[in-house]
Amino acid sequence: MNDYIARVSENLGKKYAHEPEYLQCVNTWLEMIAPAADDPRYEKLDLITRMVEPERSFSFLIPWVDDQGCTHTNHGYRVQFNSAIGPYKGGLRFHPGVTASVVKFLGFEQTYKNALTGLPIGGAAGGADFDPRGRSNREIMRFCQSFMYALYRYIGADTDVPAGDIGVGSREVGWLYGAYKKVTGRAESSALTGKGLTYGGSRIRQAAAGFGTVYFLARMLEHQGESLEGKRLIVSGFGNMSWGVCRKAAELGGKVVTLSGPDGYIYDPDGVATQEKYDFMVKMRYSGEDRVEPYAERFGAVFHPGKRPWEVPGDIAVPCATQNELAVDDAVMLIANNVRYYVEGANMPATTDALRLLRLSPKILTAGAKASGSGGVAVSALEMAQNAIRYSWSRKEVDEKLRGIMSSIYDASAAAAEEYGLGYDLIAGNDIAAFKKIAEAMMAQGL
Ligand code: GLU
Repeated sequence: MNDYIARVSENLGKKYAHEPEYLQCVNTWLEMIAPAADDPRYEKLDLITRMVEPERSFSFLIPWVDDQGCTHTNHGYRVQFNSAIGPYKGGLRFHPGVTASVVKFLGFEQTYKNALTGLPIGGAAGGADFDPRGRSNREIMRFCQSFMYALYRYIGADTDVPAGDIGVGSREVGWLYGAYKKVTGRAESSALTGKGLTYGGSRIRQAAAGFGTVYFLARMLEHQGESLEGKRLIVSGFGNMSWGVCRKAAELGGKVVTLSGPDGYIYDPDGVATQEKYDFMVKMRYSGEDRVEPYAERFGAVFHPGKRPWEVPGDIAVPCATQNELAVDDAVMLIANNVRYYVEGANMPATTDALRLLRLSPKILTAGAKASGSGGVAVSALEMAQNAIRYSWSRKEVDEKLRGIMSSIYDASAAAAEEYGLGYDLIAGNDIAAFKKIAEAMMAQGL
């Protein structure tokens, strides 16, 4: 790490000691891009500081009324991280664990995730510390409306384009979009993505995150002269990302044998590989209970309360739940179990030490969420393109484009790692390629 980067890291550490998730993702990234950051222009323009701090961020209050007539007040956030290559773009997360630090880390990850999709989008993230668990549809709708009344003046098709994330699916995007339209008086379809199919959404968007992850994984397998045929996948979470992974993995001959929730994990040796099981995952999510145990009850699978799935033997681990869901002990277990591929779906799912262990182990190949997790936002950008030309591509067309985008992200990552003498390091390669692209765009546009 050169002196300039070390200084940026030290300054951030002092200034944002109270924002651990944000510091975690930035410090890992600084380590990854270090081999490519020796250009003297970077220090002269203080470019690295400008790349690791958001261009703008703000918070707002969201008062709303529950079904009993009581008022609640939640905290909303939007971090407009970087607009070098297009309008700010990124999801909204509704979860009690949302803080300024979490949203800032998501905005950072999103910026560098979006960069290599080949589509003109900057990076952003937002959300609220609202807990949708146990809330009625009407309560969630009122919450979405109040959220949008606070946010609408700061977003727009050419400004900032929110979408979903944990706790925000197509149902919530519908209510958010409805409120946006009412208050602005404009049917500005590209102001939000992840919309329903009847009002400007894209085909495949719901499954795109998971599909993209499997497409990326397929390229890694191919590189090793292997395929998904007969492979066992250890997957966490049971949301959109996991759902898409189950479906695409099954289509390509693999088998997802675990799913998890805050209550524990299920082990299904037959694989989560039938339409009935996919539909049941959606039902569990929309029940608002945030529990995976009902899957075990319904399909006779084994439920392990309070545990994570990383102890189950398999070939490929795909964390799809949330940040820091995989600690050092889990990484040790994956390596001991001879898991040979670690492919991130969720943003920053491993702790710093766990990721270091996995990356340095010669027994396991790793891919980071900024590469393998970008299928969702890639199709969001396709949704914006379709809205802009008032058109709608077929399922097949979107799926083909998604596969092509994931493949080019893989190629760019592998090529950058090769160029900097890092061998087959897809995580560093991806970070370097995205860093260089945004750096060039920022320098070209001046201060
Ligand atoms: N939250 C999603 C992600 O991590 C979606 C972002 C978007 O579609 O704008 O990529």
